[in-house]
Amino acid sequence: MINGQQAIDKSGCDGYSETMPPMPQDPDVWLFDLDNTLYPARCNLFAQIDVRIGRYIAERLGVSPEEARVVQKKYWREHGTSMRGMMSLHGVDPRQYLAYVHDIDYSPVPAAPALDAALAALPGRKLIFTAGDVAHAEKVMERLGVARHFEAIFDIAAGDWWPKPHRQIYETLVKLHNVDPARAAFADDISVNLKPAADMGMRTVWVRTHESVARAADSDLSHIDHQTDDLATWLTDWVATRSQR
Ligand SMILES: [Mg+2]
Repeated sequence: MINGQQAIDKSGCDGYSETMPPMPQDPDVWLFDLDNTLYPARCNLFAQIDVRIGRYIAERLGVSPEEARVVQKKYWREHGTSMRGMMSLHGVDPRQYLAYVHDIDYSPVPAAPALDAALAALPGRKLIFTAGDVAHAEKVMERLGVARHFEAIFDIAAGDWWPKPHRQIYETLVKLHNVDPARAAFADDISVNLKPAADMGMRTVWVRTHESVARAADSDLSHIDHQTDDLATWLTDWVATRSQR
């Protein structure tokens, strides 16, 4: 906890960014969530994915769209993801499921030259840590134009189909990619996804969206070190602050 004395600003998403005091050791590995972190939440890819999940369940179980919606929500509540419910109770192949639900239009994701420049200037290794699959991550990064910066994509298959914030997958990631949590930083739009990372000693960056701020209302945010509404700007400021030391 770097800024424990500093109140977390939950007032809105209006470009707020912050510069933190110098730290003894800067991260040498940066982990980035993908969805709504590397691209703006307003792209709303999840609305498309949500429709595909409902359609998949309706087709697979032979039920109406309304019944599928009920199942989708129930499995999400009881199994962590709708996919895990479909795997556990209906023997669904997760690879086939993910290919189906990610068969969407990626054109809402814009090119991101500012993010590309910020990542180019940021020292250290960079990895993607996503609850999607590799194919989805590659399509998003192709649209953004930032794929060249990332040495690996740690996806939901690599995490044995568990989503964040399941602690075990964070452990798997650091072992698999030889990451020292004390020298790592993790950026995600969902505040609770940052908690296991903080518990392991990572620096945390909350990329706030309107939805994730609303979801975090009244929750404990003491595990968050930094917050921003614009990741590219925050990273650029971070690098500028380091170079002035
Ligand atoms: Mg996300």
